[in-house]
Amino acid sequence: MFSKILIANRGEIALRIIRAAKELGIKTVAVYSEPDRESLHTLLADERVCIGPAPASESYLNIPNIISAAEITKAEAIHPGYGFLAENPRFAEICEAEGLVFIGPPASIIKLMGDKNQARQEMKKAKLPIIPGSQNVIEDFQEAKKLAQKIGYPIILKAASGGGGKGMRIVTSPRQLEEQFSIAQSEAQAAFGNPALYLEKFLVSARHIEIQIVADKHGRVLALEERECSIQRKHQKLIEESPSPFLQAKTRKRMLRAAEEAAKAIGYQSLGTFEFLVDQDQKFYFMEANTRIQVEHPVTEMQYNLDLIKEQIRLASGEKLSLSPSQLPQGHSLECRINAEDPHNFVPSPGKIDFLVFPGGPGVRVDSAAYSGWTVPPYYDSLLAKIIVHAPTRQEAITKMYTALETMTIVGIKTNLPLHLKILSSTDFLSGRYDIQFLERFLAQGKAPQPKKA
Ligand code: ADP
Repeated sequence: MFSKILIANRGEIALRIIRAAKELGIKTVAVYSEPDRESLHTLLADERVCIGPAPASESYLNIPNIISAAEITKAEAIHPGYGFLAENPRFAEICEAEGLVFIGPPASIIKLMGDKNQARQEMKKAKLPIIPGSQNVIEDFQEAKKLAQKIGYPIILKAASGGGGKGMRIVTSPRQLEEQFSIAQSEAQAAFGNPALYLEKFLVSARHIEIQIVADKHGRVLALEERECSIQRKHQKLIEESPSPFLQAKTRKRMLRAAEEAAKAIGYQSLGTFEFLVDQDQKFYFMEANTRIQVEHPVTEMQYNLDLIKEQIRLASGEKLSLSPSQLPQGHSLECRINAEDPHNFVPSPGKIDFLVFPGGPGVRVDSAAYSGWTVPPYYDSLLAKIIVHAPTRQEAITKMYTALETMTIVGIKTNLPLHLKILSSTDFLSGRYDIQFLERFLAQGKAPQPKKA
């Protein structure tokens, strides 16, 4: 096992990793940007190294500075968290070349899954059903038009190097295609430095359901029961739950087996997530694989009463899987992502938190690096806290979450707490009958929190 690791991240996930490492008896090194000097991850690690100014490109994405920080502090491994460098195969390669263990899959797997189109083809070979669409990246609009005609509208254009819900365009008619194609290409170039696009059938009223994979370096792979992540805005998840209120037992079994087999087929190692869309007939299609810990991992941890980050660190050090297939999930878990943003227009709301009280009680977990008096910097993503609950039934979990959020107080900045309360009390959410378009419809109907009249 390692004696010291460096965490190449910030915010709640950096703190989460620091705590897991401490529990394993591992010393921790935080890296931080100048505005993160007073951030909790900086304060709570055993050692800290400033890696640059505010822009992520000069700090949390600054590979030479991060590697130097690891070398100066004699860290043996680097945990990348999620976002930033977590799915950058070059970073994983550099770590290995410098004699540092990258806590994640080998660079070759990150690379394979990072090209979403290539990943689709690879998964097809591994017998996973994929959404009908292009076989290769599409060179030009004419090719897109021909293919769209063949598979039928609506279609979705996606960036081959896409991520974080960005670089996607839904096209409902041939008329829109030409314009959308060039917009999507320039967006992909601007956001990911690669204009390559591919195309898929757009599945209307599908559910986003994903399977957590845990794999050791000795060929053992385990798939854990699903997380339902269909409550999304602009393709970004907002609420996740497990088990899915929609998935039938036989579909679940088939998805688990298919994901496990596919992970084995590509020699997967470490943690990863296979994301699927499931249509109304319970047909499932592989969408993409994330080769890192995900934001919503606590939902699975609550269900299985385990610590995925500790497991990930143990696996990186070469230990065998400690989980057994006989370990079964219990009850129901929900996660709400609390963002520092205006709930009416979704504009980020950084600034000083004057006063903050988190919820608590049995079955309530808070993953956050926020505290009273801390200033949320404007430079990074707006995730402020994840509230996770666990209860015997879905109904009890929803009630617990509602109570938790109602008793949570944040003064000084705006958050999407009011939106969460609206969703949690909506009939569609309560009945479990929602899909990936639910939230957009809900907002379009004016059901979002309304600004107070002056
Ligand atoms: P990212 O890597 O940017 O998160 P994903 O491929 O995981 O992108 O897609 C994010 C979300 O976009 C999905 O959860 C789903 O809501 C929507 N989406 C993606 N592909 C399709 C599709 N073919 N049909 C319908 N919705 C889709």
